[in-house]
Amino acid sequence: MSKLVLATRNPHKVAELRRILAEADLADVEIVGVEVFPGLEDVPETGVTFEENATIKALAVARATGVPAVADDSGLCVDVLGGAPGVFSARWSGKHGDDLANLRLLLGQLSDLPPDHRTAHFACAAVLALPGGAVEVASGRLDGHLVGEPRGTNGFGYDPIFVPLGRTRTTAEMAPAEKDAISHRGRAFRAIVPAVRDLVSAS
Ligand code: IMP
Repeated sequence: MSKLVLATRNPHKVAELRRILAEADLADVEIVGVEVFPGLEDVPETGVTFEENATIKALAVARATGVPAVADDSGLCVDVLGGAPGVFSARWSGKHGDDLANLRLLLGQLSDLPPDHRTAHFACAAVLALPGGAVEVASGRLDGHLVGEPRGTNGFGYDPIFVPLGRTRTTAEMAPAEKDAISHRGRAFRAIVPAVRDLVSAS
């Protein structure tokens, strides 16, 4: 059995990657989160692109544990803001992880904007890194637009204001499985599967 560490403390991400590998007949790859390695320090996200941040995290965890690692980094990119908040999505209001403050600030910034100019996408980079330094990068995106009033209670972050292209409900109004099937993260994780398969066949 091969082992992979997912560079996250979020059990939902671990479960999602396990489901995606199982769908790809790779269920015997053991996925663990970083919490199984006591003393492992969180890696600062100092990059300015999703790929850079995911690569920094995956390489640091693979080197520290000696186990191949997958890391992801994601965010919301608003066209009229030139792709912001982007890699700053989690700390747009200045305080890391304050989802409500981040969402309120963004809504205020877009308040006068007509519907045609509210296009945005969620982006995600997923990186597989080996302890020796080799990396494979994959990405996924979900296009859509932003509504002016939050709707729905599922999900997190900017989900209450994001409506995927061709849909009418926000991602916070969708069931988790419905969002997973189209999400940027699901797409990036599925795109990294061939690299995981190559790793398994080589071991
Ligand atoms: P992370 O890279 O998964 O930690 O995501 C960084 C930030 O991007 C989160 O704190 C959210 O603000 C935003 N974000 C990423 N993915 C999503 C999503 O699926 N829904 C809503 N917000 C998201």
